Amino acid sequence: MNDNVQRFPGATALPDNPMELAPRRPGWCDHNAVTLDEHTRTVTCADPKCGAVLDPFNFLASNAHTIQRAWSAYRQAMTQANEIAERVSILKKEEQRLRAMVKRLQEKVPVVHTRGRAL
Ligand SMILES: [Zn+2]
Repeated sequence: MNDNVQRFPGATALPDNPMELAPRRPGWCDHNAVTLDEHTRTVTCADPKCGAVLDPFNFLASNAHTIQRAWSAYRQAMTQANEIAERVSILKKEEQRLRAMVKRLQEKVPVVHTRGRAL
């Protein structure tokens, strides 16, 4: 422990983690495609090298989470797109207003004849 950090009175050391994930072996399958067997009511990985039988509820729950995240991201992206479109619309109106102002001011500027001489 660092000299500047003191252990909280009564605190014990961090216990060992009771769980450990086995490292993924080469050729790990993410089960990206599945086969639904209506007769046996099973979900199996469609990859012929894998063919693992998957828990149907876990498969549906995982897909539900993925779809929920996708819809949330879609809603957020659409909200941002609508905000940006609204800002662009406001900026285009402002551009038109400023262009009209420049045109009006240019028309009011008196014409100076220099007769070929530089100013
Ligand atoms: Zn698989």
